Amino acid sequence: MRILFVLNIPYAIEPHGVMLLSSICKNAGHEVQLILLKKDSLIKRVQEFNPHVVAYSVIGSEIDIFAAADEKLRRYCEESGTRIFRIMGGPHPTFSPGILDQMSLDAICQGDGEKALPALLECLEKNEPLDDIPNIALTSAGARLREKLSSEELDAQPFADRDLYYAAVPYIPRTGLRSFVASRGCPFHCTFCYNHVYNKMFEGCGPILRRRSVNSLLTEIEQVIAQYPPVRFIRFFDDTFSLTVDDWLREFAEEYPKRIGIPFYCLMRPNTFSEEAAVLLKKAGCYSLSMAVEAGSEPIRNTILKRGLSDKDMRTAFERARRLGINTYGNTMVAVPGTTIEDDFHSMEFTRSLKLTVPTFSVCSPSRGTELADFAMEQGLMPADADMITRFSAESPLNSYTEKEKKIQARIACLGTLYCTVPGFLKPLVKLMITSPFPIGLARKIGFSFAIFRIATRLFPHAIPKNPITIVRVAIDGIRYFW
Ligand code: SF4
Repeated sequence: MRILFVLNIPYAIEPHGVMLLSSICKNAGHEVQLILLKKDSLIKRVQEFNPHVVAYSVIGSEIDIFAAADEKLRRYCEESGTRIFRIMGGPHPTFSPGILDQMSLDAICQGDGEKALPALLECLEKNEPLDDIPNIALTSAGARLREKLSSEELDAQPFADRDLYYAAVPYIPRTGLRSFVASRGCPFHCTFCYNHVYNKMFEGCGPILRRRSVNSLLTEIEQVIAQYPPVRFIRFFDDTFSLTVDDWLREFAEEYPKRIGIPFYCLMRPNTFSEEAAVLLKKAGCYSLSMAVEAGSEPIRNTILKRGLSDKDMRTAFERARRLGINTYGNTMVAVPGTTIEDDFHSMEFTRSLKLTVPTFSVCSPSRGTELADFAMEQGLMPADADMITRFSAESPLNSYTEKEKKIQARIACLGTLYCTVPGFLKPLVKLMITSPFPIGLARKIGFSFAIFRIATRLFPHAIPKNPITIVRVAIDGIRYFW
């Protein structure tokens, strides 16, 4: 069969879900192509490739763009008498299965698709019913049967099909950055994150954390280094790279420098970044890492957001990273339900005091289905029909703030990085930009340019292309797609 995967933006981080599904489909003898809505016309590609299946991979913030593209596709199919099976996977349909009816899709995939998609294609080929395929839903009620891949099954998967993505986004392989994923699942209960919803949905389907073996992970990295040079920096984007110091982490710290020896970035939590874990990560080659701040006040962090992290945990972890020479990135949310603008200013001060290398800020927009969204609605802070699509630096959807406060929060999201990293004597100036009617468009351009520059030069400096022409092309793409 011919399968056309559809993504929106050419993100600098490779889309592992789609790349892995592509490998699986190709191994099963199917033909696969990828289109990026920001770059190409879906209808034009459909006319050229004539796919049997169009598979959208969607995160919540992009749903409007996919819905508009799919509307055109449906009209084209009706007018031309073309039959295409339209399926959507990724976080959005997993947590918002109602999208199936809203877009009149043929199916959605909830959770892992590595077994579900090939099973679906086989049924379509044989013209068999699709009802009993785990993780595939044919109605907005969601999938009847559910399953998760085990650690052993993760190891048995083929490596991600990078050719698919690099052909669509040729500037990516010219940077020195390659991304990998070692595990799936997170056991923490942060109320704003979908992991607690996912863990409930897939309760009884196996352990929360599933992890590839160190050997499988390093073998894939070795293959990518050989096949897609230059590779100068590795980004692991597991939700939490290591939950505890265990045999896996010790083996990784031993083997990674010997077999790979390239600096890397990963995501941790202040409470998992213990002294022992930090020393092992540093030994392995950790150059930079992410540890979210989320809220400056301990009661907000732990009661409303359920992070389970004291101020002391936060200070100790960031001091530890500094002492070991590991650069840090971390996001702080403003406009958390149940908090005030004063809490937001306090979060700015607290974040500044942690001395992160790259602190960023975002306006909290509770996602439908999470405990935080339920809390906001129960407290009457957000109407049930609120727009719960996260848009970076957009204004808060909560009704507990004045219009002026919402604009200040949006400016914090844009200028917070600047505020937390400028020398002390410039703080009042940045704060004035945040609290005065400074144009939000200009704040976004200044703030995001500064944050992106800092991310590139402090977190991933090895990944910056050596060739000036490539730098210009990457910059042009960045401006074209993200400005
Ligand atoms: S630690 Fe991170 S990934 Fe895990 S539940 Fe909390 S926010 Fe989500």
